[in-house]
Amino acid sequence: MKEILLCKYGEIVLKGSNRRYFEDTLCKTLRHRAKKYGSFEITRSQSTLIIEPKDDFADIDGMFESTQKVFGIVGISRCAVCEKSMEAIKKTVEEYIPQFLIGKKTFKVVAKRSDKRFALDSMQIAAEVGGYVLAACPYLRVNVREPEIVVQVEIREFGAYIHAGQFKGAGGIPVGTSGKAMLLLSGGIDSPVAGYMMTKRGIQLEAIHFESFPYTSERAREKVLELARELSPYAGTFTVHIVSLTHIQEELVKNCEEDYFTLLLRRYMMAISDRIAKKTGCGALITGESLGQVASQTMQAIGVTNPMTTLPVFRPCIGMDKEEIVQISRKIGTFDTSIQPYEDCCTVFTPKHPKTKPELSKVEEQQSRLDFEALVNEAIEGAYVEYIRAEV
Ligand code: ATP
Ligand code: MG
Repeated sequence: MKEILLCKYGEIVLKGSNRRYFEDTLCKTLRHRAKKYGSFEITRSQSTLIIEPKDDFADIDGMFESTQKVFGIVGISRCAVCEKSMEAIKKTVEEYIPQFLIGKKTFKVVAKRSDKRFALDSMQIAAEVGGYVLAACPYLRVNVREPEIVVQVEIREFGAYIHAGQFKGAGGIPVGTSGKAMLLLSGGIDSPVAGYMMTKRGIQLEAIHFESFPYTSERAREKVLELARELSPYAGTFTVHIVSLTHIQEELVKNCEEDYFTLLLRRYMMAISDRIAKKTGCGALITGESLGQVASQTMQAIGVTNPMTTLPVFRPCIGMDKEEIVQISRKIGTFDTSIQPYEDCCTVFTPKHPKTKPELSKVEEQQSRLDFEALVNEAIEGAYVEYIRAEV
């Protein structure tokens, strides 16, 4: 039996004259993904994308799973295609549809006939198919007003489409349609979630990770690259810039007051991210900050780190509780990696009494004890790039 996928767009349908661009981006993403699963054809029909295997080797299950992580699609139906005869439709309903009706008590059939040459009209098709469903699943009842599941039959030009129910898509808008932004990716729980949330809004990611070798280890870096790989089914292929803060941290420890270490370090991070972002065509920064979560995430602390960039800073976790962030991190599959206990450059040389209500002038005085520009440039010159190939 031939199976295809019917994908329903979400917000794309509201995009007016830009709709074409959103659709093209979405199709490009799907075509790119399809390569891994065999030969597929992707076509559009009103607000539905049709993904169709071209031969018996195409892996429709793999493609289905991958499509569930593509932003811009709100619902996916698995759909059987058969010959346009009531006999073939009956056979397909009996064999294919019961798997979608497990645990359901009520249903209705909706039929559509775009091929008007078909002998029966929509009402007649629906009535007959209703009978086949009842024969295959005698425990079901018809409920036309509030069915738990709708069985759909569409008589199209090249065949009859039969499907029931819809799986949830990833929602959002297609990756790339909102431009590119630089994610500050640590090994923690929050920043991968922040990256996921912004890719959902159409952002193409680029990432930057700060380390402090030998105070942070090779394993800590590996963990971050693993997190990046875990984001890639949503984000696609992207690069991670690795930047060493070792020299900066050593200079901070030698020259500045301990209470300001974290804030000063975060100012360096923002400044370096700002410059690498601009060089690589990113229009914004993304962080996993959540208001009040730690000393460096109070309003005042964010207030003294924010001015180090002129780019907009997206902080999708800012109003979320840890528990809400954890829930998303479990859903997208980054949680287990995030909780592996490796050090982060923010957790080495941490002050015992970090300033939670810093004054900008005091922070600037502390910063002026070092050659900020020289240290930033040195860090940028020493940066290198890791490519994350999408695991879709
Ligand atoms: P996370 O769980 O994302 O690590 P956190 O609760 O540990 O966040 P902080 O350490 O204060 O919070 O970091 C706040 C944000 O700064 C992070 O979400 C991340 O965007 C960025 N950040 C922190 N450390 C690093 C790092 N080593 N490399 C890149 N970005 C970082
Ligand atoms: Mg962290």
